[in-house]
Amino acid sequence: MNEHDSERIASLLVKDGYSQTDDVEQADVVVLNTCCIRENADTKLYGNLGHLKAVKDRNQDLQIVVAGCLAQKDRDEIAKRASWVDVVVGTHNVSRVPALLEDSRNYGTIVEILEESAIDDELFSLTATRANLPFSAFVTVQVGCDNNCAFCIVPAVRGREVSRKFGDIVAEVERLAQEGVTEVTLLGQNVNSYGRDLAIEARRSGEYDRFTLGDRYVVDSAHSLRPLFSELLREVSAIEGIERVRFTSPHPKDIRPETIAAMAEVRQVMNQLHFPLQAGSDRILAMMHRGYTAERYLAKLAAARQAIPDLAVTTDIIVGFPSETEEDFEATLEVAAAACFDSAFTFIYSPRPGTEASLMVDHFIDPEVIQRRFDALKVVVEHSALLKHQERIGRVEMVLVEGPSKKQEGVFSARTSQNKLVHFARPKSGSQVRLAAGSYALVEITSATPHFLRGDLVDVVAPPRHRRKIDVAVG
Ligand code: SF4
Repeated sequence: MNEHDSERIASLLVKDGYSQTDDVEQADVVVLNTCCIRENADTKLYGNLGHLKAVKDRNQDLQIVVAGCLAQKDRDEIAKRASWVDVVVGTHNVSRVPALLEDSRNYGTIVEILEESAIDDELFSLTATRANLPFSAFVTVQVGCDNNCAFCIVPAVRGREVSRKFGDIVAEVERLAQEGVTEVTLLGQNVNSYGRDLAIEARRSGEYDRFTLGDRYVVDSAHSLRPLFSELLREVSAIEGIERVRFTSPHPKDIRPETIAAMAEVRQVMNQLHFPLQAGSDRILAMMHRGYTAERYLAKLAAARQAIPDLAVTTDIIVGFPSETEEDFEATLEVAAAACFDSAFTFIYSPRPGTEASLMVDHFIDPEVIQRRFDALKVVVEHSALLKHQERIGRVEMVLVEGPSKKQEGVFSARTSQNKLVHFARPKSGSQVRLAAGSYALVEITSATPHFLRGDLVDVVAPPRHRRKIDVAVG
C-alpha cells in the first residue's frame, strides 16, 4: 500500500510537470513517504531529514515533503523537529501534494492531515503503474481496517475500512488494460471484507449508486446488498487484455467460499494466496485478536488447496509476541511445518507505540530468546519453501517477464503464475526472439532454491490480446 502511494505521488508530480531524478542534488522536490509499520521508521525519517537539511542549505528552492503513515501519526511533531520540511501530508490526502507544494511556496510549512471520514473518490482515483513494470498495476479497492490486531498500527494510521465504488474499480482496470497493463494486483488491508461499509451506508441512506455496475446492482447469491470481493475478481478478470489478477491481503477469518470458488474457476485469477498466520498458538492468536484458531486456519487452508489447483501459499509470522512461551513457539513451528508454505515473511515482534501489545511491557521477550526462535522458524519455512520450489523442477511455466536481472548479466527475471521469481538466460544475440519486459514466455524450471527458481526459455508468447506464437530460435 505504501509503495503504491509512492507511485501515485510520483505520477501526480509528473502530471504537474516534474520529472523523476535519482540525484537528490538535482531535485526540486523530495518526497519521503514513510511507513511506520516497519521498525524504526522515525529514526530513519529523521536521519534522512538531517541529510536533506544539508542539501537544502545548498539549494534553498528545494521543497521537502513528508507523507505516509508516520506523518499521519506524528503530524505537527515532524515540522517541529525538522523545521526545514515544507509539507507534511497524511495517508488520506496524497492527492493534495502538488497543491500543498504550491501553497507552501507562499505560506511556509504546511501540515495537512485528514481523518478517514474525509476519504473521497479522488483518493481512489489516483492511479499509477508500478515503477519499472508498466505492464503491471496496483489497484486500491479499499483503505483502512476495521480489525484490531493487538500488534498492528494500521487502524490507527489508515483509519476505518473504506471501500471504493465497484464500478470505479472496474472502470480503472479497463483503462489500465487499454494502456497495455496485463497484470493487476487488487490492494486492501482486508480485501475479503470489501464492500461491507458500502452495504451499511446504502441501507442507511437508501442510495445504491456505489453498488451499480452498468445498469445492474451487485448482489450476492442471497440477493442481499453486498458487492462481494469474489464478484470483483470475476468482473476484473473478464476485462479484455487482463491476463493476471492478484490480490493482497485476505484475512484468514474473513475468506469466503465465493472467493475460493473464483480463484478456482477463473483462469486469470492467479493460483497464489497470501494467508497471514501470525502465530500458531491459540493463546497468542487470541491475545492478538486474530479471530481464528490454528485448527481453523489449517482447515481453511486445506479447503483452499483442495479447491484451487496447484495453489501457492505465502504467509506472515511474528516471533516473540509479548508473553510467548516455548510451548507457544513450538505450536507456531508445528503449524508452519504442517502448512508447508511456499514462502513466509517472518518478523521479530517490535512494539508500535499506540498499539495494545506495546503496553504489555512486562511480558516482552528477551531479544536473545526471540532471535533463537526466529532462526529456528527460518529453518522450518526455508525447508518447506525449498520443497515447494523443487516440485516445480521439470515443469514448463508461463511467466511474465519483468526484464533483465539486476544482479546477473545476461539473465532475465520473470514471475510464474504462483508469483515465484524465476531467472533464465536471455536469448543469445542473433536469435529471432524478441523478449522484452511485459512479454509472456514459457520457461522450463531446471533448479530451485528457497527464494527463487532457475529455468530455460522454451517459447515466447505474444501479449495476450494479440495472442499468437512467436518463432523462437534459441541455441
Ligand atoms: S487485519 Fe491486518 S491491517 Fe488490520 S489490524 Fe490486523 S494486521 Fe493490521
